[in-house]
Amino acid sequence: MQTAGKLMKVFLTRRIPQEGMKILSAAGVCEVSLWDSDEPVPRAELLKGVQGAHGLLCLLSDKIDAEVLDAAGPNLKTISTLSVGFDHLALDEIKKRGIRVGYTPDVLTDATAELTVALLLATARRLPEGVEEVKNGGWSSWKPLWLCGYGLSGSTVGVIGLGRIGMAIARRLMPFGVKRLLYSGRTAKADAAEVTGEFVPLDTLVSESDFIVVSCSLTPETQGLCDKAFFSKMKNTAVFVNSSRGAVVNQEDLYEALTSGQIAAAGLDVTTPEPLPTNHPLLSLKNCVVLPHIGSATYSTRGIMAALSARNLLGGLQDTDMPSELTF
Ligand code: NAP
Repeated sequence: MQTAGKLMKVFLTRRIPQEGMKILSAAGVCEVSLWDSDEPVPRAELLKGVQGAHGLLCLLSDKIDAEVLDAAGPNLKTISTLSVGFDHLALDEIKKRGIRVGYTPDVLTDATAELTVALLLATARRLPEGVEEVKNGGWSSWKPLWLCGYGLSGSTVGVIGLGRIGMAIARRLMPFGVKRLLYSGRTAKADAAEVTGEFVPLDTLVSESDFIVVSCSLTPETQGLCDKAFFSKMKNTAVFVNSSRGAVVNQEDLYEALTSGQIAAAGLDVTTPEPLPTNHPLLSLKNCVVLPHIGSATYSTRGIMAALSARNLLGGLQDTDMPSELTF
């Protein structure tokens, strides 16, 4: 849509895949300016870049709060985030200003579930340690008790947050011979029957699971959910995996649980902060596998996410339907 012959202004906080850029330029309704880098936009540049914008396309690393919205000013009518998580958006402030929000559910579910399963297996079967031993000469012979880990066959898996991604993880894990699939959350899920999921209180899930997978959204209720009390209820042989958001975990408590033998191992795709400083204590532990937030990182998924967020942005700019609008 053009306002008095002028193109609407949109600001992109990062370079995004071409699939998204092509859609924006083909639409011919907006003038795109972007932080032309693969690195996050500095706060000052974000506050500058967003000035007068009608649309903002952002990433999960951009905190969109009252300050950003005020810097944007009254033109801003839509925000499109290249993520399914929206904990970086101050939704109350956004709502007050009547701004519509688009996000990218569903399209990253398979990739994120796949990565979570890979992380679980890598952590439980100690793959990074094994690879390292091959390289550093630690592999001397086949040894009966060397580099043993934990297998999924006959196990109990607990999924915290059986949403789109949690369900996709459960579907992928069941064929490994999982015996019981427990899940917790705010409500029981009708589709849990497909994975014979048992809706249980969180305490039951924590104490009975051999593998705990966190796939809930980050909310005030889930912030710091996995803390000392949580880890102290886990089995000593249990493996903890988080691919939701780092802030769901109290990392000091996790470190303590991993070093004291309270739990067997942890795999994290998400941390606080991101990136995790290279001297962080968790990175010194063999029983902790940390990945750099790559859940949705397949070429095709990122292209589809970019296209969807571009379409969401255009819908918001043109006051038409967004393919994936967040209701809040
Ligand atoms: P979703 O379908 O909305 O699922 C979120 C789940 O969290 C829901 O099942 C919800 O349960 C549950 N939940 C909310 N509050 C809870 C609580 N207090 N205790 C336990 N569970 C609770 O979202 P999704 O598409 O699966 O994505 C989930 C999250 O994954 C995103 O929010 C994002 O943070 C993260 N993510 C990470 C990556 C990555 O690269 N690692 C990629 C994509 C997404 P109810 O329905 O009962 O409320």
